[in-house]
Amino acid sequence: MADREDGSRQLSYDPRADIARRHPDWIVGTGDLGGLIPEVLCPVRRVILLERSLSPVVRRCSLAHAIAHIDLDHTHPVTGHYENREEAAANVLAARRLIPLRDYAAALTWTREPAEVAAELVVDAATLRVRESGLTTADRRTIRGLLRRCVREPA
Ligand SMILES: [Zn+2]
Repeated sequence: MADREDGSRQLSYDPRADIARRHPDWIVGTGDLGGLIPEVLCPVRRVILLERSLSPVVRRCSLAHAIAHIDLDHTHPVTGHYENREEAAANVLAARRLIPLRDYAAALTWTREPAEVAAELVVDAATLRVRESGLTTADRRTIRGLLRRCVREPA
């Protein structure tokens, strides 16, 4: 995440740009999915449909989640335990892409309130929880180092 000259933020990861660049054969659209599921992936037709009624922030996270499924080759239907494992793996990969450590540390220099951190990172609360729960000891060390640097080198 970087500040542009006009004051708006440049997000580190743009799922729409990512899928257009790396998976140009996939089509992304929005639709009325009944409000029950955030996205539907059809590997045969290479279509991702995002629930229209979701906020742009949640749709951003849902698209990142769908791209993670594609990258993890979750293209065959599975159920039960395997479905849960695939969902968890897609959530972790999407959260890592949406929340790079540098952006996370930058957000922490403003606030430690989870809702505010999520807003700062333009992610939903669930994505932030997944990212935070998956932080390794090395990640936490990196974040502490980034925070120390922020304190020493004010912009
Ligand atoms: Zn999923």
